[in-house]
Amino acid sequence: MIQPILPGATIGVLGSGQLGRMFAIAARRMGYRVHTFSPDQDTPTGQIADVEVVAPYNDLDAVRNFARNVGVVTFEFENVPADTAQAAASCAPVRPSGSILHTTQQRIREKSFLTSAGLPTTPYREIHSSDDLARALSELGCPAILKTAAFGYDGKGQVRVESEERAEAAWDAIGRQEAVLEAFIDFDREISVVAARGADAAFVHYNPAENQHSRHILDVSIAPARVPPAVAKEAVEMTRCVLEKLGVVGVLCVEFFVTRYGRLLINELAPRPHNSGHLTVDACVTSQFEQQLRAVCGLPLGSTAMHCPAAMANILGDLWSQREPDWAAACAFPNVKLHLYGKLAPRPGRKMGHLTALHHDAEEAYRTVLEARQSLT
Ligand code: AMP
Repeated sequence: MIQPILPGATIGVLGSGQLGRMFAIAARRMGYRVHTFSPDQDTPTGQIADVEVVAPYNDLDAVRNFARNVGVVTFEFENVPADTAQAAASCAPVRPSGSILHTTQQRIREKSFLTSAGLPTTPYREIHSSDDLARALSELGCPAILKTAAFGYDGKGQVRVESEERAEAAWDAIGRQEAVLEAFIDFDREISVVAARGADAAFVHYNPAENQHSRHILDVSIAPARVPPAVAKEAVEMTRCVLEKLGVVGVLCVEFFVTRYGRLLINELAPRPHNSGHLTVDACVTSQFEQQLRAVCGLPLGSTAMHCPAAMANILGDLWSQREPDWAAACAFPNVKLHLYGKLAPRPGRKMGHLTALHHDAEEAYRTVLEARQSLT
């Protein structure tokens, strides 16, 4: 059993976005200090942290210096380079470990891991050349989705290939780099399971959330997901298997497609709190961020029970196209909570905040959160 890192200690966060911000809020509430490290200044996490270190991720001296001043390093951004995690690990425990980042930040490694663990993924082929792509398209059929192997999120580095004739254009569109081609899944819905694992191998999970995407970016999550109990149970068991096989100490989210035949296929893994778990802040006894804190500090994990069903809608920079959104209008919904991330530039597609609606009926929570978001404009 590891020695717990107790309130009063300092936690280091690699990355400085909204996930780090909500983590820092949870950590500060419990009496911890927070240092954040990223190349940016006045960041969502930095605005809450005690110390905001601004340096490139490949400045390994700065990384080691950062890690020397904290009790444990965690991350909120999984595309931190492997060298950075390694440099941090030479000076402080890193949880989850850098090897988990290494597996999950590259689609080929992630899918190979899932396959070797006996877990179902979307049918895919590795692509290293345009010949590979032509062969893969003839094997998997069209439409298919070509995704860069590395550094993809929120639909970045993805193109839908409608026909074999479009192969060359698609290969150009992703910059002719290492990729995977996935069969297009005509799914019934998408769900995700956020779970945590402690250093003592304790495991907890939240209710599966149902996710709706728009332009490949998460738009709305509803929890509990509207799926049969057997599907929810199977998703949780697969998630447990992922956390155990990877040896995660921290929080990890598994995203699934539920096919029209009720089969689960794993789309991807995120070794950190997840956008679909933001509703746990208002709806659950322990939020996903407090859970990450507890796990990486070696504290007992908290209850994931829901106070009531909830729905979350993202607020993207697009909402600023005419004028500043009408925050007071959303606050007029008494069961809706507003979260803003302190980002200064509202660019289209940029996640600026979210709304969470709470209601004993999940359908009603869903309707309310959409109405509240509509009221912003
Ligand atoms: P990803 O970045 O891989 O999570 O993709 C973002 C979103 O694009 C997913 O949540 C789906 O809505 C959609 N998508 C990705 N891959 C596929 C696929 N193979 N078949 C159908 N839709 C997909």
